[in-house]
Amino acid sequence: MKSIIDKLHNDHINFIKLLEFLENQQQLLKYCQQTDLESILDAIRYMKEYPDLVHHPLENVVFKYFLENHNEVHSELKTLLHEHDELPELIELSNLRGDLQMHSTWSDGKNSIEEMLEGCAARGYEYFALTDHSKALAMTGGLDAAKLRQQWKEIEEVQSRHPEIRLLRSQEVDILADGSLDLEDEMLEQLDLVVVSVHSRFDLPAAEQTRRIVRALQHPEVDILAHPTGRIINRRPPYEFDLDDVLHCAREHNVAVELNAHPERLDLKDAHLILARELGLKIVISTDAHRVQHLDLMSYGVDQARRAWLTKIDVLNTLPLDAFLKAVRS
Ligand SMILES: [Zn+2]
Repeated sequence: MKSIIDKLHNDHINFIKLLEFLENQQQLLKYCQQTDLESILDAIRYMKEYPDLVHHPLENVVFKYFLENHNEVHSELKTLLHEHDELPELIELSNLRGDLQMHSTWSDGKNSIEEMLEGCAARGYEYFALTDHSKALAMTGGLDAAKLRQQWKEIEEVQSRHPEIRLLRSQEVDILADGSLDLEDEMLEQLDLVVVSVHSRFDLPAAEQTRRIVRALQHPEVDILAHPTGRIINRRPPYEFDLDDVLHCAREHNVAVELNAHPERLDLKDAHLILARELGLKIVISTDAHRVQHLDLMSYGVDQARRAWLTKIDVLNTLPLDAFLKAVRS
């Protein structure tokens, strides 16, 4: 069987090339339009047989095309992928009101706080969180308490010039090897949003890795667990740990889990998102932008969320600012 996906997959196995190719989505859509329905249905069956491909960023585009352009494909997808009688109203890009993970020149980002703010405002957001790295990630210029206080001064200045969007004071705080956090409690308490994640010791035995993350989530200031499995597509597998335990712990301690929209991560993946939703967990979608243009990666996160059948109500950063802050603090 020579399906579209089959062909595209073979043609664009290299990730960088793939991204370049994706820059011209029109070209890809034209390709799909020239293909007959039977081949498209074949492609869907093929996707079903090779779950790995379902995590391929290119598939997002093709999938979206199927959903939008072919009623027959809709029903075929229903039977093949889900047992729903009716398709739910899946989340859309326009539902997002804020981006909750990004970096500025204060750590390893390429743009200033003000440029990131303007980028978020230009995308119609109502709020966003600035989440530069913490000090353990020295190679990224991660901030200690003193630098963080300096950053807050700049945040205040930038915010006063831009009342059109709310800049949430945050940090992507490293979860240290023993599960403690890379920032003092006194500082954590003064953040609007505390995002935590693992960036080191990916090699810990599964039980220890699980204990480490669970301990971090038990900290009362923690709001979001970012890129929960740590995978980098085609480069690094997820670290070994018990995701189920971690998700249960997140629910118990009212911690939201991130769907990292960066195409190298797409973490959590769709199957895990389905699990998270079934457990009643809160989910956020964030780009992890390191420059203004990366803010556009949000669409990959939304496509990934759609594959997990998420609707607007499953995703916290579709809420207006006040409701959002209330939900993360409750
Ligand atoms: Zn990170």
